[in-house]
Amino acid sequence: MRVLVYGSGQLAQMMYLAGCPLGIDVQAVDVNTETVVHPVSKRPLDVSLAQALESSDALTAEFEHVPEHLLEEASKTEKLFPSMNAILVGADRVREKRLLNALNVPNAAHQVVTYADQIEDCVSALGDQLIIKASRDGYDGYGQWRLTSEEQLPELKQALSSLDLQAVPLVVEQMINFERELSLIGVRDKEGNIQMYPLAENLHHQGQLHVSVAPAPNVSAQLQQKAEEIFRVLADGMNYVGVLAVEMFQCADTLMVNELAPRVHNSGHWTMTGSDTSQFENHLRAVVGLPLGDTSAIGPSAMVNIIGCSSFSRDLLKISGCHLHWYGKTVREKRKMGHINVTAASYVGLGEKLEELGKYVPAEYFPKLGREARRLKQIQP
Ligand code: ATP
Ligand code: MG
Repeated sequence: MRVLVYGSGQLAQMMYLAGCPLGIDVQAVDVNTETVVHPVSKRPLDVSLAQALESSDALTAEFEHVPEHLLEEASKTEKLFPSMNAILVGADRVREKRLLNALNVPNAAHQVVTYADQIEDCVSALGDQLIIKASRDGYDGYGQWRLTSEEQLPELKQALSSLDLQAVPLVVEQMINFERELSLIGVRDKEGNIQMYPLAENLHHQGQLHVSVAPAPNVSAQLQQKAEEIFRVLADGMNYVGVLAVEMFQCADTLMVNELAPRVHNSGHWTMTGSDTSQFENHLRAVVGLPLGDTSAIGPSAMVNIIGCSSFSRDLLKISGCHLHWYGKTVREKRKMGHINVTAASYVGLGEKLEELGKYVPAEYFPKLGREARRLKQIQP
């Protein structure tokens, strides 16, 4: 069997690795050159995109910003999973908000802005604690502005004045005073069967995910159930096939959806070693029509992103339950270079392992590690 992935980054690489034992050959499309490449070496394969479309059993995407003409071409084959519509929902915050509202899924109060002066109406309607997001092409906190008092309005309008808001509108959201960020990763197959992983807790630094812990500590059965209900409504509502990630804010016992990622997700990387079936394998299973795998966690796990740094001691591999996943990219500031998965028998054990991990990696690139280790060590068994 063969799966063609639009996008040739680390997510395609990890799908490729998950496909090997199942006999699923994963090829990737470099969407800039529109060539078919090997997902690990990134070397061009001796096959045209048209041939690859023909010979693949399923087509999928590792990121939502695939050029629309490519998605249209893929969609025509009726082998694209998730659907073009679901991918576009993830690519465009205006569509995303429309879907959330149409399905009555709680999300931050917001307005769509197509010219800069409308920001003033947003302040009247939503208050002066706002987060302003470009509706397309944002990631890792890029394409976002914050307003924390009305006095900053002129400055903000100045910053937005160079943008073409008719072409790319803004979504202006009320700033949510959340307790923590959680994500639910789940998978839905073509028959509508759904499997969901336990909630992960996500720790960000400067708009980027640094650490995920799963199962998230202190999650009541009711909270997990609430998250699962939201997932079901969204996945069924889109007739979704594949892995879907739902990012949420927790405020006391309520959940609010922040955004959707119609693909395997960074906050699901822990499943590679921390769950019975990884998100990558489950995604492949869903899109080719194989039975979905068990999504339960085998113990508490942490996923630690390696961001903008390539020099650290490989001796971290001495820690039992600690695994390095390296993406093979040239180092750049803020670039995700790889991740480290750590699994333990308890949260305390996980905290101890993260503390040990801190001895092998430069602290300035891992600003969340030390505190998280200390927090986990205090969780009562
Ligand atoms: P990603 O890398 O997850 O794709 P992104 O740049 O697309 O990120 P968001 O996830 O929408 O954008 O926002 C990035 C981060 O900004 C969130 O993880 C959260 O910490 C913060 N944030 C976003 N929206 C709000 C909000 N309405 N209120 C408070 N904080 C927010
Ligand atoms: Mg996000």
